[in-house]
Amino acid sequence: MSELRWHPLLREWVTVAPARQDRTYHPDEAHCPLCPTRPGMRETEIPEPDYYIAVFENKFPSYSREQGRCEVVCYTSKHDSSLGEQSVAHIRDLIDVWQERYAELSALDNVKYVYIFENRGEEIGVTLSHPHGQIYAYPFVPPHVEREFESSALHYEETGGCLYCQILEGEWQGERTVAENDRWLAFVPEFARWPYEVHLAPREHVGDITELSSGQADALAHLLKVLLQKYDGLFGKPLAYVMAMHQRPPGDGGGHYHFHIEFYPPNRSADKLKMLAGSELGAGAFILDARAEETAKRLREVGR
Ligand SMILES: [Zn+2]
Ligand SMILES: [Zn+2]
Ligand SMILES: [Zn+2]
Repeated sequence: MSELRWHPLLREWVTVAPARQDRTYHPDEAHCPLCPTRPGMRETEIPEPDYYIAVFENKFPSYSREQGRCEVVCYTSKHDSSLGEQSVAHIRDLIDVWQERYAELSALDNVKYVYIFENRGEEIGVTLSHPHGQIYAYPFVPPHVEREFESSALHYEETGGCLYCQILEGEWQGERTVAENDRWLAFVPEFARWPYEVHLAPREHVGDITELSSGQADALAHLLKVLLQKYDGLFGKPLAYVMAMHQRPPGDGGGHYHFHIEFYPPNRSADKLKMLAGSELGAGAFILDARAEETAKRLREVGR
């Protein structure tokens, strides 16, 4: 059973989950718990001979059922693949799954925030290489989102408008644009904290993934694939990243908050990683050695 401990200096929750020590660590394909259960083989997490997209509760959850929920979303039954390799239609179906899980989890009594994310690549400590993402339904609003939410509320109070809509205004077909279609924009924000950080955001103001129209979801599937292919083309190898969906906390209005997806790849070049060190970890001040305008240009040109 995991335990929540309050950090009084930072005023945020720290989760202690000792059971996670025993989780499966870098298994090969024959022992992968996220592959389908092949006839005559040992049973995996998915007791089916094949699947399209699968969702189940994490066997090593960070939060118990009383606290929240931790789910695993397997993008495909194919072990050696990735989200970016899926067809646009497949990604579009995944968006439906995300919407459905978001709606169900955010309606739970003890859940204060539903966080959809993916960790990809050994560089950021992924222990299972099978293409999958996760969903954490937290018993609190996590600090990063809470801070964005507060900034957004403050801006709304001062101007009556959405902070993120204002950020987006100058970015269409701009020098920090990575890719775009008529409804979504992928760009490196001026204030990026990671060298190839990208934000993916809808042009129209939407608070969470369930509010996307079918047309907006189609356009998201398209641009998500474009972006992930650019990432893998950047250094000619699968790029590690964290994909983080930022949505408004369920239930308390928050109409001022704008849904967006942030990506943080740790690489600053093909073989060098940005490590979080003294300034970032000890002081919370990020220092970058590349300008957003340059990294955006590099990403924009991949695949051209
Ligand atoms: Zn697998
Ligand atoms: Zn907005
Ligand atoms: Zn954000």
